[in-house]
Amino acid sequence: MYRSNTCGELRLTDKGKEVTLAGWVQTVRKFGAITFVDLRDRYGITQLLFGEELNPQLDASPLGREFVLQAKGVVNERSNKNPNIATGDIEVLVQSFTVLNKSAIPPFTIQDDTDGGDDLRMKYRYLDLRRNAVKKNLELRYAVNRSARNYLHEKGFMDIETPFLIKSTPEGARDFVVPSRMNAGQFYALPQSPQTFKQLLMVSGYDRYYQVVKCFRDEDLRADRQPEFTQIDCEMAFVEQEDILNMFEGLAKRIFKDVKGIDYTDKVERMSWEEAMWNYGNDKPDIRFSMKLCNLKFPAHTFPAKQSISSLIDGAGFNVFDAAETVVAIAVPGCSEYTRKQTDELTEWVKRPQIGMKGMVFIKVNADGTYKSSVDKFYNEEKLKAIAEATGAKAGDLILILAGAEERTRKAISELRLEMAERLGMRRKDEFKLLWVLDFPLFEYSEDDNRWVARHHPFTSPKPSDISTMINNNPAIENAAEYLKHPYANIKANAYDIVLNGNEIGGGSIRIYQRELQEKMFEALGMDKEEQLHKFGFLLGAFEYGAPPHGGIAFGFDRFCAILGGSESIRDFIAFPKNNSGRDVMLDAPATIDDKQLNELSIKVDVK
Ligand code: ASP
Repeated sequence: MYRSNTCGELRLTDKGKEVTLAGWVQTVRKFGAITFVDLRDRYGITQLLFGEELNPQLDASPLGREFVLQAKGVVNERSNKNPNIATGDIEVLVQSFTVLNKSAIPPFTIQDDTDGGDDLRMKYRYLDLRRNAVKKNLELRYAVNRSARNYLHEKGFMDIETPFLIKSTPEGARDFVVPSRMNAGQFYALPQSPQTFKQLLMVSGYDRYYQVVKCFRDEDLRADRQPEFTQIDCEMAFVEQEDILNMFEGLAKRIFKDVKGIDYTDKVERMSWEEAMWNYGNDKPDIRFSMKLCNLKFPAHTFPAKQSISSLIDGAGFNVFDAAETVVAIAVPGCSEYTRKQTDELTEWVKRPQIGMKGMVFIKVNADGTYKSSVDKFYNEEKLKAIAEATGAKAGDLILILAGAEERTRKAISELRLEMAERLGMRRKDEFKLLWVLDFPLFEYSEDDNRWVARHHPFTSPKPSDISTMINNNPAIENAAEYLKHPYANIKANAYDIVLNGNEIGGGSIRIYQRELQEKMFEALGMDKEEQLHKFGFLLGAFEYGAPPHGGIAFGFDRFCAILGGSESIRDFIAFPKNNSGRDVMLDAPATIDDKQLNELSIKVDVK
């Protein structure tokens, strides 16, 4: 028996017990003739006290950091208690010990506040994983996993594994491919998601499926992406959108309860994609705070639902606004007393390449009801007041206005809104707010190919009321400049995203389940009949054999965990993550392979 107890287990009630502990040496402290060792394992830290009589043995085999040690002794009440750790009332008076293994000096300290930089910690990830901070994240991840599985199991979902060596499942990224040795010149694709398999399972009658599953997407890695990541992937048959929303907001609430002890009793808000873009400038708004956009001017085609209020800014001779496609403002609460230095700094912030604005206009709504702006030359007090009223600004607020091309400006104001909220402490990590975003457009226009692309994926069904528009119109775009007038531009998807604190944590849709409509969809995406059969013949075939109405969703498991853990980075919640260039620095992968292996695979490498 290596141990009778863990290093996190013993309490004062164990006083006098003979115990054996095993773990890693966190610290060694000499104190005159006696030696204190903090012994650590996954469960905690226990102080060991080595008396004078053990010194000869300690001298013969000195202990070092991260040595693996087994110690036998008696639990003793500590005179100098440590209220910060669970075992802080006791120590173990060591009678005998064995060094089970030595350790080289670790390249960084195994502590919450380690001295190891990111790269070093990733290279020695197995040591990094010993740190409490990382362990806590993995524990949270496991708790989310368990909670989700319990909920889904209770609701009758069945975990069914689907293969990794498959054919392309498009989710908008490039495929990772695997060469087949037995079929020279041919390749498997790794799944971007189990999308088509879960739909086939619905055809097979497994009407509630789930899987906590790896997905592989070869995309340029933005800050918080991983080439392989995990989804909680779900599908249900005989459901409408409402059934899915209820089932899966239930899942999110259950996870809040189990993992964070939070009773999320609020109704989960719902918002159309158009409203989200209109009021927040993006399709995953953080609604923990308001600060909605005020659209002073915008291109007529963008949001036909609203009237432009550009008369408030037009005709004042301010060329920046006159020439801009879009002018949009936010009223930042309580910031009217910003100094010149502060507004200059914000202007620099919006001019950074990531934001890409040429400048920023501000209006201060002073506490005494007067106005001060960076465009006083063009707008008198009365006009400033009218603009301020349109934005909903109150006395004491600072109005920030951006102007420029529609897409970039809308994105920029949405970033600025988040930045201001961050600075004002309105994005609290302990507050969680869910939101459903609905009614996305089914298609996006690809300028490069002058055709439609699926906004979600090609299996998403249009809203029932838009099906006839889809079937009865030719998807071809005759006049690229006027693509917005094509009937397909207005088709809404039967799709939904679930957003948590400004992050998309899941998304899904009601699927197409009739062959005719699926063929029409493929046609709209530029696939001729031959290509359809080559790529998706299996699915079209399955739809001939009694496919039930179905729909589903997938949660981004890593991201959900990161948000629950109050972290910006999903990497912190993955045991062995890749870096921003998609490399595993510990394994040093990807790597070249030898000629023998290449020959077997009938592959010649020609790196330019
Ligand atoms: N397969 C989709 C995705 O990965 C989710 C879904 O539609 O269920 O985004």
